[in-house]
This record gives sequence, structure tokens and C-alpha cells, in this order.
Amino acid sequence: MNWTKTYKKAITFSYDDGVTPDLRLIEIFNKYNLKCTFNLNYGLGPTSGGWEYKGKPVNRLDLREHIRSYAGHEIAAHALTHQNLVEIGVEAARKEMVEDAEGLTKLFGKRPVGMAYPYGTFDDPTVELLRELGFQYARTVWDSGNFDVQTDLLRFRPTCHHDDERLFELAEEFLAMETEEPKIFYIWGHSYEFEGNENWDRIEKLCRMVAGRDDIFYGTNAEVLL
Ligand SMILES: [Zn+2]
Repeated sequence: MNWTKTYKKAITFSYDDGVTPDLRLIEIFNKYNLKCTFNLNYGLGPTSGGWEYKGKPVNRLDLREHIRSYAGHEIAAHALTHQNLVEIGVEAARKEMVEDAEGLTKLFGKRPVGMAYPYGTFDDPTVELLRELGFQYARTVWDSGNFDVQTDLLRFRPTCHHDDERLFELAEEFLAMETEEPKIFYIWGHSYEFEGNENWDRIEKLCRMVAGRDDIFYGTNAEVLL
């Protein structure tokens, strides 16, 4: 948390699965100079089969073709083939995480230091496995609704999902907050949700609201949390 020497507040974003609407989301983040962490499954791509979200088709990107699209943002792990790490057992989970990290390292030239739990599921053996493999943070889906700095980074709790009804209230509170302690606003989601819910305006509005402040550090998850 080097930023705390200069700033008291930081904002970061976390989006999962490496799907095609990531490209539109990246454009928005880039336009506002905001930084995001993308949690990717090295073993999945356009031929692995898509799905539907609220009647809209969801497809994965061919990551090999989009290495530069993600430039300026952080690449983190999300398991090789998006397995539920608790259900498959520790040894299979090890393979999912090791091979995802190795593949992403090869592709993006930098070893991932963080991850997001596929389906948000984890247990103590999973956390121990990640620690052993050298992961420094892992994001859950348990929204905290606050901006407090956390110490248990392998069970990291985001502030809120972008569809949380308190999103703009939290943003206003964060912008107005005067603090001596470091505070972090952490927003997460999936870019395909903007397609299905037809609410791209929501993330655009949030980005416009929070961007360009000289008292806020805009960094990736690793830059903000570590
Ligand atoms: Zn996922």
C-alpha cells in the first residue's frame, strides 16, 4: 500500500471471466483513467461454449488475441477452467490454480499475484492452498458495504457489486469522506451483466463521478491492496 504515503483514499475495480464485453468496459475505464483487475481463466475461450445471461448470449474472448486490450490493467487468476475449487478437492484445485497462473504468466508476461474465487466459493483448505502457491490476495463475493482496509487478503471482501442499490450512495459517501486512515472503495462484477441488464450507463455514471480527483489513488487491485 505504497499509495498511502501520498493518498488516503483509493478506488479499484474487479471484473471476472474474460468475456467479450470486457472490451467495452476497458474503453470506459481507459477514458476515465481508472484501473481494473481482470480475473481470467487461461483454459477457456470462444470455443469452450458460451451461455446466456438474461436472454443475451455471453461469449469468452480469445485471450491470445487480446493481450494488448488489457494493457494498463492487472491480470489475475480465476482458475484454469472456472471450476468450483471447494467441490473438486485440493489436488484438482491446485492444478486449476497452478496451470491458470502459468498460462497467464506466459501470455501476459507477468505472474498473477491475485485471484477471484470462481462462483465465490472457498474454504480453509482452498485459502491455505492459495497461500502456499504464493497468491497474495483473493476476492470473495461477500460485499462489506464499507471502505475499511482489510488484513485477511485471501478472504478479501469487496465494498459492493456494481448493481448494488447503494452504489451511488456509497460513491458519494466515499467522495465526501475526510479521513486520516486509508480507505478503499472496491467495486466488482462481470461485464456481461451490463449487456443483460442494459445498464452500461450505470458504470459510465460511476466512472464519471469518481474519476479525476486529486485526493484519490486509482490503481489495480494489487496496487491498492498490497
Ligand atoms: Zn467467474
